[in-house]
Amino acid sequence: MTALNELIESLSRLPGIGPKTASRLAYHLINTDPAYNNILGEEISTIQSKIKNCSICGSFTESDPCEICTDNLRDRTKLCIIEQPQDVITLTTSGVYDGLFHVLGGAINPLEGVGPEKLSFTKLLKRIDEGDFKEVIIATNPTEEGDTTALYLKHILKDKGVEITRLASGLPIGGDLEYADKTTIARSLRGRIKF
Ligand SMILES: [Zn+2]
Repeated sequence: MTALNELIESLSRLPGIGPKTASRLAYHLINTDPAYNNILGEEISTIQSKIKNCSICGSFTESDPCEICTDNLRDRTKLCIIEQPQDVITLTTSGVYDGLFHVLGGAINPLEGVGPEKLSFTKLLKRIDEGDFKEVIIATNPTEEGDTTALYLKHILKDKGVEITRLASGLPIGGDLEYADKTTIARSLRGRIKF
C-alpha cells in the first residue's frame, strides 16, 4: 500500500509525531469524512502563502504590519525580545504583557553556526533608535543559547538608554519539582522571590 506508506512517512516527519502516531493518524484519515480531508489538505497547502513575517517585528501575520505593531492601544515604550514568532502567542495569551515584540529568528548558537549576523539584531537596534522604548524585556529561552543571546543583547543595548529586564526564570507552571532538571531548579533558586 504505497499511498498509505507515503502518508505515514510524511506525517512522521512532523515534529513530535513518531511512526506509531503517524500510522494512527493515517488510518484515521482513511476513515474520516472526505470533506474534512479536503479542508485539511487545502489549509496545509495554502498556509505558507497566507502567513508571512511582519516586516517590523518579524512575527507571523496575514497582514503586514501585524495586528500588534499596528495596535495603538499597546504600550509603545515596552519591547519584548523573543526567539521565535510563536513565542508571541505564549506571551500575549498570558494577558500580562501589553507592549510590542521583536522576533530574533533564533538564538546565538556557535556550534550550529548561528552567529549574531544571522539574527535580526541590526533591525532591533534601528527600531530602538527610532522608537520611544523605555524598557526592553529579554524573553529568550532559558537555555544555554538563550542565555548567550541575552548576554549579547545586554551588551549591544547598554548605551541605548533603555532599561533592560529579563523574564524571571522559574519552574514550568504545573510542572512537578521532582521532574524538573537540575539547571531549572538552580535557576529558580537563584531567581527566587519573596513569598
Ligand atoms: Zn509586527
